[in-house]
Parts: sequence; structure tokens; C-alpha cells
Amino acid sequence: MSSQLLTGLPVAKNLRADTARNIKALSGTGVVPKLAVVLATDNESTAWYVRSIVRQAAESAVHCDVVDLGPQASGWQLQEALQALAEDRAVHGIILQTPLPAGVDAAALAALIPPHKDIDGANPESLGRLAAGLPAYAATTAQAAIEVLEHYQVPLAGEHVTVIGRSMVVGKPLAQLLLARDATVTTCHSRTKALASHTKASSVVVVAAGKAGLLTGAELHEGSVVVDVGTNVDEAGRLIGDVHTESVLPVARALSPVPGGVGTVTTSLLMLRTSQAALDTLVASGQPV
Ligand code: NAD
Repeated sequence: MSSQLLTGLPVAKNLRADTARNIKALSGTGVVPKLAVVLATDNESTAWYVRSIVRQAAESAVHCDVVDLGPQASGWQLQEALQALAEDRAVHGIILQTPLPAGVDAAALAALIPPHKDIDGANPESLGRLAAGLPAYAATTAQAAIEVLEHYQVPLAGEHVTVIGRSMVVGKPLAQLLLARDATVTTCHSRTKALASHTKASSVVVVAAGKAGLLTGAELHEGSVVVDVGTNVDEAGRLIGDVHTESVLPVARALSPVPGGVGTVTTSLLMLRTSQAALDTLVASGQPV
């Protein structure tokens, strides 16, 4: 069997077209969508990700402020920065980048991002609303995995989908998004026994563990669809996913690659959400659009 590659670029292009439509709708209103990225780390992969957000923002005509408090920032400094952004009416979206300095209460800080500006779904309230079926932003990476599955018309309703990983940024929100699409969802994690018994029984497997080579073809049902969310760096310094590509390709019907899969969609989704949040704010203020 030859696998279809579920590449992210066509998905990202559609999202960018939607963002362009929002920007056009905002022209002449005096409102420019603005995203603020708060960080307090010198982590290299965070710096790489923030640069890609800044680049995508420039391409999308979204203003982007990077509030870099440095790796020594205190919880108090982060709190002050987030409170100021929460009150700033010119800011439509706020991202709090991880990792945060040791000893800082990440959940308490994320809770300072008002749900309507929480475009990365970091506030625990956003995940709660999602679980309750109320409007909320899901963590961007989780939503990006859904965007890829939906773009390639992978059936979800009634299907058994296994998600490997239970973090706040991928596994938990993704399970909610899949349930909302009527999938039968199994969430696996580092303490799951007999992982293959779950993956082999699934028509779709999403892996987000951060463990290179974790998912091999031997753990899959013939003809299943695999979405690889993992990002790892191999000995040669190359970006690789959680999927053991050589053994998965002959078994899976389709596979999202790393790089070039889910990660490609994420920054475009952030721009779409920021532009949509700006439009929503304008509509809520009663100003004609
Ligand atoms: P995390 O470390 O917070 O969570 C990892 C999860 O995987 C945990 O729930 C853990 O229980 C589970 N896990 C670990 N080892 C396992 C094993 N052997 N078997 C089964 N489950 C196992 O990581 P995260 O923030 O959720 O990120 C997961 C991966 O996704 C990482 O590789 C990360 O770099 C990547 N990621 C990619 C994007 C993107 O845009 N492409 C964005 C965010 C995260």
C-alpha cells in the first residue's frame, strides 16, 4: 500500500485566504488585528517558533508584539505583563509561550488571559468550555491536527481514534475536538499498558508524545490514517516526528509528515484567530463592518 502524505501547506493556504478576507473586512474600520506573544525563556526551539509566528504575522498583515521578559523573569513580572495586555483594547490575541521560568505557576498565569483573547487556548477555562461544548479556542496544535484531518476528508464520526499524549496543549483538547465530531476516542499516555492494543483497533491515530520512533507500523491496523504531531531533533540535527516513517508508510493509508504537516498549519491558524478576534470585538462594539 502506498501512503498519501497529508501535507500542511494546502491547509495553511486556505487558512491564510480566510485571514485575508478578515483583514479586508477590517480595512477602513481603523482596527488592525494585533497579537502579543509573551515569553520568558532562552529556549532555542521557543525562539525558533516565535520567529515563525512573527514572520507569518508580517505576511498576514497582523501586528505582532513580542514581549520578551527574559529567562530570569519573575511570576510577578509575567503577571503584570499579561494583565496589561488583557486590558489593552488594541490587543486581540495573547500567547503565553512555554517553557516558563522554574517555580512560576503556568496555569495561574494562563488564567489571566481573557477567553476572548486566548487564541492559543491556554487558559484552563478555555479547555473547560471546550469540554462543556461551549464556544472556546482549542489549543492551536490540537485544532491544527483537526484542520489537517478535515481538509483531507478523513472520516471521524463513529470512527475509533486513538490520541497518544494527554497534555493540555495537544492530547486533552484534541480528545474534546474529536468527541465533538462524534469520534470514539481513546487517550493513551506514558502509563498506558499495551499501547498497540488501542492503536491497532483504530482507524485514525494521532501521536503527540515527543518520542522519536514511538509509533511503528507493527502497532497499526492496515489502512489507518496517522497524524504525527511530535517534533524531535535527531542526532544529525534534523526535525523528526514520533512516527517511525519507514515501517508506517507501507501500512498506513495516509500520514502527515514532519516537517511539513501539522506544524505548518499552526502559525496560519494563530493569524486567522487573531483576525477573527479583532472582527468579533468590532462587531460586539456595535460598529458596522
Ligand atoms: P508533553 O511532554 O507535555 O506531553 C507528552 C505526552 O505524551 C504526555 O501526555 C505523555 O504521557 C505522553 N507520552 C510520553 N511518552 C509516551 C509513551 N512512550 N507512550 C505513550 N504516551 C507517551 O508534550 P506536548 O507539549 O503535548 O507535545 C507533544 C509533542 O508535540 C512534542 O514532540 C512537541 O514538540 C510536539 N508539538 C508540536 C507542535 C506543532 O506545532 N507541531 C506544537 C506543540 C507540540
